[in-house]
Amino acid sequence: MGSATLPFKTELKQILDIIIHSLYSHKEIFLRELISNASDAIDALRFRALTQPELTEGDENWKIKLIPDKEAGTLTVSDNGIGMTRDEIVENLGTIARSGTKEFLEALKKADAQQRPELIGQFGVGFYSAFMVAKKVEVISRAAGVAKDQAVRWQSTGEGEFEVETVEKETRGTDVILHLRDEDKEFLDEWRLRSLVRQYSDFIEHPIVMDVTREDENKQKKTVEETLNSRKAIWLRDKSEISEEEYIEFYKHLTHDTEPPAKTIHYSAEGAVEFRSLLYIPGHKTFDLLFGDPKRGVHLYIRRVFIMDDCEALLPLYLRFVRGVVDSPDLPLNVSREMLQQSAPLEIIRNNLTNRILKALAEMKQEEYDKYVRFFQELGVFLKEGVYHDFKNREQLADLLLFESTKTEPGKYTTLADYAGRMKDDQQEIYYLAGEQREQLVNSPYLESFRAKDQEVLLLTEPIDSFMVESLTEYKGKKLKAVDKGELAPGEIPEEKKKKLQPLVDYLKEKIPEVKDVRLSSRLKESAVCLVADDWAPGAHMERILKRIGQKGETGQFKKILEINPDHAVTEALVALLQKNPDDARLPEYGRLLYEQALIAEGSPIPDAAGFAQRLNRILAKDASS
Ligand code: ADP
Ligand code: MG
Repeated sequence: MGSATLPFKTELKQILDIIIHSLYSHKEIFLRELISNASDAIDALRFRALTQPELTEGDENWKIKLIPDKEAGTLTVSDNGIGMTRDEIVENLGTIARSGTKEFLEALKKADAQQRPELIGQFGVGFYSAFMVAKKVEVISRAAGVAKDQAVRWQSTGEGEFEVETVEKETRGTDVILHLRDEDKEFLDEWRLRSLVRQYSDFIEHPIVMDVTREDENKQKKTVEETLNSRKAIWLRDKSEISEEEYIEFYKHLTHDTEPPAKTIHYSAEGAVEFRSLLYIPGHKTFDLLFGDPKRGVHLYIRRVFIMDDCEALLPLYLRFVRGVVDSPDLPLNVSREMLQQSAPLEIIRNNLTNRILKALAEMKQEEYDKYVRFFQELGVFLKEGVYHDFKNREQLADLLLFESTKTEPGKYTTLADYAGRMKDDQQEIYYLAGEQREQLVNSPYLESFRAKDQEVLLLTEPIDSFMVESLTEYKGKKLKAVDKGELAPGEIPEEKKKKLQPLVDYLKEKIPEVKDVRLSSRLKESAVCLVADDWAPGAHMERILKRIGQKGETGQFKKILEINPDHAVTEALVALLQKNPDDARLPEYGRLLYEQALIAEGSPIPDAAGFAQRLNRILAKDASS
């Protein structure tokens, strides 16, 4: 096959444009990205060779080599990993496979110069960071198992196109050759390269080597291949030997996060299954969680051999924000991915990791509350998802939740335990109200009687909250109860009153077919009416969420109950009017107005807004002219 010139995909073109024209702070991360790709390529081949040993053709002397050439002005990063075929190189280096590219571009445009290089790494377009320092990038690659005259050369100046052609390459693997810009020639300097490798890539387990010239004891110059990284897998080292900076650097290597993690969990487990693990809890929502396609965070190694970076069986889905490494000698090396994911030891590791993580979070909440609050604001949604999915750890997860309530200041939180501690003797249940915003909730009629009795109500304003409380149902034996559902203290209404108001109740039931029932309420103090869902049915807020996520259901499937305030002046007046003349033309109109204000109070739209305005204006006109 001859040479061909191909265009980059549109979005990639834009990304390259930003990379080339506006990146100038810590460009040096390009080296980390290329080394990490080389290391991934070696891992990939080593893993494939477990089942297809012939692929390595006897060369398992894994190595990443840096070759600075001052005369040519090039820096080459060379590896003997899995390599790429012509098709792979076009696919891998000419397109972006990930979803969420648009969002990434937006973020990239908005980010300041300091953050941009990290964003590039985070989004898995690390290779293109080469263009921060190179005016031209050449990639010569020979895939494992491919003949030496079937290698491929890819090259580009990063300006919209790249060329590919078939070439010869003696050895398997990939050479990335950077033709450095004049102002970036510092990256040919031996000391500079050495210190960059130490800083960013020390824990890469394959040797990163460079030829250096040294004088021997006879003052003779000779060239030796020096290994620049210490190669000790950080998770296998003793905790006491590892500095905070090293932990953070490794976290950044794994995540490309610009912030340090909120919590580092490093431990080894013995017993039924032996393993070591180094886990990180990020302090905020990392980029991949915000946009598109999050990889499940934890990398799996078996006896230091990298197996996979998205081992789904290692953590429950809701803990996908956790990053890190697990290394176990007790897992079978020579089985397929699928079989491995189903193996019993993996299940044990998963339970163990889950417990550790939940314990670490509890600790953080206890000891570093402010940090925990920030974590919870950003990532608490995952714990709520956990309440929904992880039945076994539900109680532990419930204790990690933070809530706003009628007793907290806006933006401050309480917990279920604290709530329970404040419950008065006569209160049996934990009350909550779910809706869009705190202000809307605190002004809603559903809180009136609770305020009068000085009873606390949790205020839930995240969409997931409604699902979460449905599955939590109780905390330490106390039921969770929505204050806008079911009947509340019916015994509190005097019999006499009930009898007196019954005609109005019957009348409204007949005139408002939209509701399934009308009854007197003991939850209202200032308001005249409100709508209430059955205990088992979705409330108004939940219905809106379901509609938003596209689950319509039949309209009118869950009819509500109209509750009226027995002590309200309007109630009294209507009963009197009804008694005087049941055929008074104003009565149906007033009934409608009551229903419509109840709709407004629960945050629902009024179907006939124009009619509502007319009805209201007739009353206004009369009142204003009296
Ligand atoms: P990421 O590493 O997150 O996938 P990159 O932009 O760094 O994103 O690399 C893009 C892809 O190019 C890699 O996924 C890999 O398939 C391929 N690639 C890059 N460098 C190499 C290499 N040295 N050897 C083999 N494949 C490589
Ligand atoms: Mg990469």
